[in-house]
Amino acid sequence: MQDYIVRAMTSDGYIKAMAIRSTHLVERARNIHKTTPTATAALGRVLTAASMMGNVQKVENGALTLQIKGGGPLGTILATSDAVGNVRGYVHNPSITLLEKYAGKLDVGAAVGTDGMLTVIRDLQMKEPYIGSVALVSGEIADDVTAYFAQSEQTPTACALGVLVNPDQSVRVAGGYLIQLLPGAPEEAIDKLEAGIQKAGAVTPMLADGLSPEDILRRVMSDFELEFLETTPVAYKCYCSRERVSATLIAIGRKDLQEIADEGEPITIECQFCDTKYQFSPEEIRGLQATL
Ligand SMILES: [Zn+2]
Repeated sequence: MQDYIVRAMTSDGYIKAMAIRSTHLVERARNIHKTTPTATAALGRVLTAASMMGNVQKVENGALTLQIKGGGPLGTILATSDAVGNVRGYVHNPSITLLEKYAGKLDVGAAVGTDGMLTVIRDLQMKEPYIGSVALVSGEIADDVTAYFAQSEQTPTACALGVLVNPDQSVRVAGGYLIQLLPGAPEEAIDKLEAGIQKAGAVTPMLADGLSPEDILRRVMSDFELEFLETTPVAYKCYCSRERVSATLIAIGRKDLQEIADEGEPITIECQFCDTKYQFSPEEIRGLQATL
């Protein structure tokens, strides 16, 4: 089953909602970065959130980066989404030991840490990107995304993210939802939404039960009439290329390139987002140097 995002709107026009199944893209991230379960869950949640936030941004050729620095053992977690919701990302320490709240429940908050910031960088295809930051609330990511929208964008938001890891460490399910109130939403709509979220419970059990993104929105928003708008396939997608890596190499400067070339051995540069490796021979390094 392909990962996808579905977008919906209540028929009264006051609430927009989206839900995602991100199982494959989180599993792909696990394979690339060799993450242990707690790191898989944390990176998976950040990728899942970034995918929805990038998709909803709706700027042609835009991009959105979600960065979490919580001071915990995972270090920085970063995910970047394209305008569709295709994502790539990394976690600084992918192989931390298992952290559990209790047997079987991964403690993402403790692994991420709470002493830090959530930062969103929106590339809206203008001169400067828009950057917004908020202090982390719990390090559980979904709460922190909710706080970001409330404080930085004044948009009341409900966010849920879930990643369930199998005993063999593969990703069983991943997904979530993002529900936002539009200006003028009446108080009773807010109350109804909050009651629905409470009644539906956590998103991970719903994903584990095989509910589709549409099913999840129907369950969480059962008191609303929903209109489903569009469905978008999403995947783990990196945009690295030999040209980009060459540009990074050129940026280190003539002297350092000279030293690398003088070593007389080919060098291998691994993309930080995916498993692509780029090899450069001493002759190619000299070629890059010649462009300076
Ligand atoms: Zn790459």
